[in-house]
Amino acid sequence: MSHAYLFSGPHQIGKMTLAMDVARLLNCEAAEPPCGDCRPCRRIADQLHADVRVIRVQGTGREGRGRTAISIDQIRDVQKEASLKPYEGRYRVFIIDGAEQLTEEAANALLKILEEPPEGVVFLLLTSDTGSILPTIISRCQRIELRPLALELIARELVKRFGTEAGRADEVARISGGMPGWAIAASEDSDVLDRRASQLDTVEVTLRQGLEGRFAYAERLGTAFTRNRSGVLGELDLMVQWWRDVLVLSQGKTELATNISRIDTLKTAADGLSTDSAANAIKAVQETMDHLERNANPRLALDNLMLALPTIS
Ligand SMILES: [Zn+2]
Repeated sequence: MSHAYLFSGPHQIGKMTLAMDVARLLNCEAAEPPCGDCRPCRRIADQLHADVRVIRVQGTGREGRGRTAISIDQIRDVQKEASLKPYEGRYRVFIIDGAEQLTEEAANALLKILEEPPEGVVFLLLTSDTGSILPTIISRCQRIELRPLALELIARELVKRFGTEAGRADEVARISGGMPGWAIAASEDSDVLDRRASQLDTVEVTLRQGLEGRFAYAERLGTAFTRNRSGVLGELDLMVQWWRDVLVLSQGKTELATNISRIDTLKTAADGLSTDSAANAIKAVQETMDHLERNANPRLALDNLMLALPTIS
């Protein structure tokens, strides 16, 4: 084992699942670790194990409200704990979930620990954005990049493991884009798909509207962005997926569409638009997401997007 790993890959690809497996592997008491069934394995799964800690942005509770970064205080706690012998297991495991969200100060403190790693401690850094992590931190870690799975594989496993109906498994797999975490969440909890469907309904209604309706939508998203950044970026990503479907349908490639259950609406939209305007719409939404991630004025960026998107029939 190395003392530090960086697991990178898109949201819900399985970084935390892998990290938990590694934590179990290191502390399992069975002959073939990780068994998932011994006391340490179960305590890790239930997040009760004293030597396995997950560090992430503390967004809840009175003090943590509105925080957007992993603070220096959190890393100082890690430093203190890392210097102690494991309490109940063989290894102390620190999982930094969202390593790109360390403040500069916190990142430098973590770097110091990684430069002189204490015995019996393993750090697992998880990120969907390697580019935002200090190169000096990256160079101290073994890198493991997680990539999307084949959609057929996801669909098959949903049917096999969760008894999902085949047609639904197919659509969930397509929507997941190869992210098993998303696919499992969506097949276990129908709210995930319902919420998504209602967001897509709003997108379709908005695209049929004139400027007044569109600006109202931009205002709602812009206001939401300050307190729920990832939620708004998720909604825009949904818009990209919707336009991608319009694009493939405008080329007659129905088999490549993602949102199979709304294929009729998508086909109608595709019939009234050129392939170019669908492609431009995708580009416009992606550029807006870029601008938002670089802290552009949300309202301005979203208003511009509303002006750029074509009206659909
Ligand atoms: Zn075990």
